[in-house]
Amino acid sequence: PSPVRDTDIRDDDALDASIRPKTLADFTGQRQARENLSVFIQAARARGEALDHVLFAGPPGLGKTTLAQIVARELGVGFRATSGPVIAKAGDLAALLTNLEERDVLFIDEIHRLNPAVEEILYPAMEDFQLDLIIGEGPAARSVRIDLSKFTLVGATTRAGLLTTPLRDRFGIPIRLNFYEVEELEQIVARGARVLGLPMTRDGAREIARRARGTPRIAGRLLRRVRDFASVSGDAEVTRESADRALRLLDVDDLGLDAMDRRYLAAIAENYGGGPVGVETMAAALSEPRDAIEEIIEPYLLQQGFLQRTPRGRMLTARAYQHLGLTAPASAGA
Ligand code: ADP
Repeated sequence: PSPVRDTDIRDDDALDASIRPKTLADFTGQRQARENLSVFIQAARARGEALDHVLFAGPPGLGKTTLAQIVARELGVGFRATSGPVIAKAGDLAALLTNLEERDVLFIDEIHRLNPAVEEILYPAMEDFQLDLIIGEGPAARSVRIDLSKFTLVGATTRAGLLTTPLRDRFGIPIRLNFYEVEELEQIVARGARVLGLPMTRDGAREIARRARGTPRIAGRLLRRVRDFASVSGDAEVTRESADRALRLLDVDDLGLDAMDRRYLAAIAENYGGGPVGVETMAAALSEPRDAIEEIIEPYLLQQGFLQRTPRGRMLTARAYQHLGLTAPASAGA
């Protein structure tokens, strides 16, 4: 990696940390999730108890990690973070759990990717705050039970459907995050621009928001790239026109679809007659992992009505054909 790229990453991280909302009141959008969390947090605080376990589900970049941090902050407790695929052995999770203090938040990102042996020891930990461990091997093996502090597990998943039922059932507070409205993203972009000291018109912020795929992480990324274009071209402020120019250069089209989205839609139209086509076939056609297609590409296309999911596979809608500038076959979904 070139040094330029490294500075770029560090710069982005610093920016990210400075615009990441730190309180529920600062968190834009997801009103229902915010209101519910606020009630449950106040109740747990009033009782001096650990908050019930929380599960955040929804596409990447919608604020699951951010909300987990906010929950810990508003509870006034410690925060530890890890991720499903990183916890290789039961012992790794045991080490994390035994180090928690009373009422702490343990955040596990991508919790649907926990290995089953690890997940197994999470059940009694969540339910009874106990760890059952086998120490040693063969005839000398014995099982020990360890009492844990009463903690709150906050899990995040892009695929709630992949969680096992016993794990899902142990979350008292399941919360689904949805794509953001343009108005909400506009506020997020405007706030980010202020933090950056980047002059921007309302229309400029709206244009970035409109094309951010309903996702704050993408809004932040586009904002940073638009800032780069503005500083190179010496623009005094970001307007709708200058934002549009930068977004076009980034291959983000008028409806906010990126090159991958269009490649996906065009492949269904051109290679599979508009569908129905199975996700495995699409993964092979695009040389992309199936997970990436189901977690990143499809949710937004479905939500925006470019795609339909049928029992026989994915189908393009008339709207998708129109957007691609192609004529829809009579069979295309509405
Ligand atoms: P996830 O865990 O769902 O993938 P993150 O919590 O990491 O998403 O958020 C992705 C980025 O978007 C972060 O930079 C975060 O600061 C920003 N972000 C997410 N939600 C909001 C929000 N409601 N308001 C402002 N920024 C947000």
